[in-house]
Amino acid sequence: MCNISNYEFYKSHHICVRCGQEKAERNNTLCFRCRIKSRESALKYYNQHKEEMKETSRIKHKLRYNKLKDLGLCTSCGKRKTTNNRVICDHCRLRKNARNRKKYLLMVYAKRNLCDIRI
Ligand SMILES: [Zn+2]
Ligand SMILES: [Zn+2]
Repeated sequence: MCNISNYEFYKSHHICVRCGQEKAERNNTLCFRCRIKSRESALKYYNQHKEEMKETSRIKHKLRYNKLKDLGLCTSCGKRKTTNNRVICDHCRLRKNARNRKKYLLMVYAKRNLCDIRI
């Protein structure tokens, strides 16, 4: 593919950095055709390595979770300390609760069962 100096040159002249021929799209470094192509190849790559990628992210997620838990930090935000052997901090817990309540309310509203609302 192209080297770095070409990349910068094309980019600054709004020319597609991949084919170096077409005009690049607005706010993009690729032309329309190359953008479609690169999306297709990314998708192909994803489909070919789907299981691997899933497994890797699962392991990473689990490692992070265990590490934060061991440190007594929130497994959601990774910043605040947890209390009472919880795995998430008060801040994230409240946020989660609020989100769940909102979901619950939306569900009730969707059913138009207003007398069922319990908060
Ligand atoms: Zn192109
Ligand atoms: Zn948190």
